Amino acid sequence: MIMKAKALVLKAPKELVLEEFDLPTIGDDDALIEVEACGLCGTDHEQYSGILPTGGPTIPGHETVGRVTEIGETASKRFNVKCGDLVAVEVFQSCRQCDNCTNNDYRHCKEHGIFDMYGFIPVSKAPGLWGGYATHLYASKDAMLIKIPESLDPQLATLFNPLGAGIRWAVEVPETKKGDIVAILGPGIRGIAGLVATKQAGAKFVMVTGYGERDRKRLEYAKLFGADLVVDTQTQDPVKELRSATGQLADVVIDVTAKSTAAFGQSVNLCKDGGKIVIAGTKGTTGAENLSIDSIIYKELTILGALGVDYNSYSKAVEILDSNEFPFDQLSRLSIGLNDANNLLSELSEGKQDALHCLINPKI
Ligand SMILES: [Zn+2]
Ligand SMILES: [Zn+2]
Repeated sequence: MIMKAKALVLKAPKELVLEEFDLPTIGDDDALIEVEACGLCGTDHEQYSGILPTGGPTIPGHETVGRVTEIGETASKRFNVKCGDLVAVEVFQSCRQCDNCTNNDYRHCKEHGIFDMYGFIPVSKAPGLWGGYATHLYASKDAMLIKIPESLDPQLATLFNPLGAGIRWAVEVPETKKGDIVAILGPGIRGIAGLVATKQAGAKFVMVTGYGERDRKRLEYAKLFGADLVVDTQTQDPVKELRSATGQLADVVIDVTAKSTAAFGQSVNLCKDGGKIVIAGTKGTTGAENLSIDSIIYKELTILGALGVDYNSYSKAVEILDSNEFPFDQLSRLSIGLNDANNLLSELSEGKQDALHCLINPKI
């Protein structure tokens, strides 16, 4: 048995150091998880480069899939998993008792809240193993685990996070229904996830947009995943393209672009009268290019912000991944070991890495 865990600690921006940790003693109420893979998203490189500050040295990684190696009896009942099970770890923790937790809004748990998340908790809080860039992760009594079927490859299973986001942002928040026409802005992994989710929900027509050279390959993936129309907004007008393909504007527009100040204006232009816009890609800035505020009034649009995912969406994501209905195994994937994480994260933060799905596998 390994007596120490290895983990990458983010000491300061762009300073990720491999360190050893004692394995925690597991009691009746908690569990230890051996990490199989940890997916990376835009949040990871923002955290790495210091755009997203953390409260001291932290083990990053919030899209973790692993195997339960030790679990207390009470925890086993609460999490509904047993030793040896493959699980995904929910980013947020829930006390399961406060008003917000009992009202199914555990992301705003009064005890934990949106800052006390896996991948963001400082190592100074015992036992330190709060992130997925590690061989082991500690599941506290307030952790939430989602069981992963053995038929699903653990690396592929890390997509539970972006796909769960797609389900919540593109379907649950805007209440997308059968027959809807949907426009998704941003062809990254979350755009693809939104496409899958809206198609599953019965959307009649889904357009996905991207911008320029870098997104070209991603738009090809969107086609592979069933997009009815892909548009490069560098050279094409998405409103014109959507109108000529469907004869109308979108019932629902989903903006998952990162740092694009043009997307909000485009969303308003793309949305039909009485339609809904979900904004889920953070911009890190103020202002929006070519935004017609009056159109929001005249069209009586509903604008919805979406942050994070919930347990339900994660469970549905795991079902979709396990169904093999969509070609997730064909996405360009880059899997690296703990030692190569520094390189990969600096490439990601400089926009130099094109793989759609990057992950850390502590076993390689
Ligand atoms: Zn993420
Ligand atoms: Zn709570």
